[in-house]
Amino acid sequence: MMILSRRVLIACGLAALFSLPAKAQPAPLSWKTGEEARRIERRVDALIARMTLAEKIGQLNLWGRGDEFRMEWLEEGRTGAVMNFTEPAQIREVQLRAARARHRIPPIIALDAINGFATYFPQPIGQASTFNLRLVELASYWSAREARAAGVNWTFAPMIDMTRDARWGRVMEGAGEDVHLATLIAAARVAGYQRGGLATSAKHFVGYGEAEGGRDYNSVWIPVSKLWDYHMPPFRAAIEAGAFTIMTSLSAMNGVASTADRGLVTDILKGRFRFRGFVVSDFESVRELIAHGMATDGPDAVRRAFMAGVDMDMMSGLYDAHLAELVQRGVVPRSRLDDAVRRVLRVKMHMGLFEEPIYDPALARRDMATAEARADSLTVARESIVLLRNQDDVLPVRPALRSIAVIGGLATHQEDWQYSDNAGLPRVRPPTLPDELTRLLGPGVSITAAPGLATHCNLAAGDTAGAVATARDAELVVVMLGEDCEQIGEGTSRAHLDLPAPQQALLDAVIAAGKPVVVIMHTSRPFVLTRFVNRVSAVLQAFHLGTEGRTALAEVIAGRVNPSGKLPMTFPRATGQVPIYYDRLPTGRPRVKDFRYETGYLDERLEPLFPFGFGLSYTRFTLDRLRLDATSVPITGTIAGAVRLAHSGGPAGQEVVQFYVRQKVASRSRPLRQLRHFEKVALEPGANATVRFALPVRSLGFHDDQGRYHVEPGEYEIFAGTDANAQLSATVTVTGAAQVTVP
Ligand code: BGC
Repeated sequence: MMILSRRVLIACGLAALFSLPAKAQPAPLSWKTGEEARRIERRVDALIARMTLAEKIGQLNLWGRGDEFRMEWLEEGRTGAVMNFTEPAQIREVQLRAARARHRIPPIIALDAINGFATYFPQPIGQASTFNLRLVELASYWSAREARAAGVNWTFAPMIDMTRDARWGRVMEGAGEDVHLATLIAAARVAGYQRGGLATSAKHFVGYGEAEGGRDYNSVWIPVSKLWDYHMPPFRAAIEAGAFTIMTSLSAMNGVASTADRGLVTDILKGRFRFRGFVVSDFESVRELIAHGMATDGPDAVRRAFMAGVDMDMMSGLYDAHLAELVQRGVVPRSRLDDAVRRVLRVKMHMGLFEEPIYDPALARRDMATAEARADSLTVARESIVLLRNQDDVLPVRPALRSIAVIGGLATHQEDWQYSDNAGLPRVRPPTLPDELTRLLGPGVSITAAPGLATHCNLAAGDTAGAVATARDAELVVVMLGEDCEQIGEGTSRAHLDLPAPQQALLDAVIAAGKPVVVIMHTSRPFVLTRFVNRVSAVLQAFHLGTEGRTALAEVIAGRVNPSGKLPMTFPRATGQVPIYYDRLPTGRPRVKDFRYETGYLDERLEPLFPFGFGLSYTRFTLDRLRLDATSVPITGTIAGAVRLAHSGGPAGQEVVQFYVRQKVASRSRPLRQLRHFEKVALEPGANATVRFALPVRSLGFHDDQGRYHVEPGEYEIFAGTDANAQLSATVTVTGAAQVTVP
């Protein structure tokens, strides 16, 4: 007879106790309402009443795999949540261990599933460039569903920080520069993740994207009016969409570290926004209060963060070390402790964790990298690609074309970054760009390839001569350049947004070979394309597209897919123009006569290279007949109207019709224009569509420096177009008395 150890027996017993039949699909997560919500509150209260001080504090610790964390802490009730466990067997182990603690409170299992788990989707900035909310929701849904299949149940996403600074590496995690687009996307991403079974953590509250000079983690200065007009709307939308948790920021806004900012976390987030979930610190941001000069030592940092309203401590271990003593000494009131624990337990109960079976690792295989996920990833990638230039209609390639040279390590290497690398889970091995061009164009077109650079994950100089020779022998050259796997996301600020020197040198050499050149910019942020844009035939912007990206790019080049992406950020002509954005305020000295005493630069033009919202198509579209339903609207009413979009040549295609508004005169200077509505419209050859807009006047207001919201009468100009330079315009007069909402 085989003798099992006591430990294994306990594990088996608990597994039998908790294992329920596996569900085919994760249940969508949403806040329960009515009697169900009241029942949860009673359950939470009853549980808190039975918990010791140590057990309560245990719920407020978020530990990460590795380093000092020990699995025993789960059994000891010292762990409310864990992060960075991606292997299904380990996740099961985490749950089993936690089930041995006295109250068997399930841990939350967290991961930054930003744009995928096994199947990768375009980065969030690339999702934004689809201008298609359904696809944004879908990308988040799959990221959640696959991570959920591995046992994860909480994601540190979406990042909904606003920024206008491409130097900041984390622009790739956001939705671009525009608050209207980003607010809609914040809600879509929360909905998608939670439909896929992951609780969300909208982050980073608040203002992280304003890091001075684009330097990650740096100081943030935001006037009250801008905070409310620009930074808060995505957070409000995420909360309204049902986000379960909110993460603070690593940065300090207006001199106060967010993790210690009681005004922000308690008064605004939990008070004014009535946020019922819990607030988690960012990685070690409780400890970093010492470096910020806002706390003398560990206990002081805990006091500041906890009393500011930060409920859960990510990774610093300081709540674990010091909170008990602070409560015992009366520095932290027990009511505040219970409030934090209540929030954590409430989220766990609304997530349904107490009813959840112990995770079965066999589930992971079944739901990972499915054909359906990959098909959806391809759909998003197709709509994410932005065509920036297409001289002489060089794209799509003509049927007579017989050879293409593909240059660049990013094009010739498989892109396969995945969490599931170590987990024995199915991995997607995406094809390369030459593979896909060969497949789509058939044997009649010769596809040759040369990396030209060191490797796909180190874009240092490589075999330039080989690349040039390959280019010279082809009729068309496709060069893929940009940022490699170490150059995206957190901690990747750039002082220069031009192509790095080895890539520019490669491109110059390839251009000199004299063949038409198509550049694919495979970056995670806007780059400065000025040095080469007019010397190449076409430019495609691809924000890292994910697993199916090479296929989508090949389809665009071959003409199987008609590009329809639009830039979610302004592309500067020079790094020195940054921050550059379309919804700026007017100046007293606009650039009119092009002379010294008007706003501008001595050494560069004022305008960007490509405006926000820009993107070409293989189709020619005509936009005309902008008309308003009424030229005078009461302040309580709605400005409505329509414009006509016509297909005027080329294949079937999609265009994003954009409506911008300017309030001409107000009690504060108002932006030159702001996006207020857009529609992505598909048209067959010869077709046209009437695209309507309806803007409640109350949504067109602004905040003052006391945080009051104003809606004012007067003239409003409506612009319609296909990018931020929209030229069609009409004016409407808003009548009635000004309205002010006091917070
Ligand atoms: C980032 C967060 C992230 C966390 C955990 C931090 O450094 O700022 O956005 O969720 O790490 O990975």
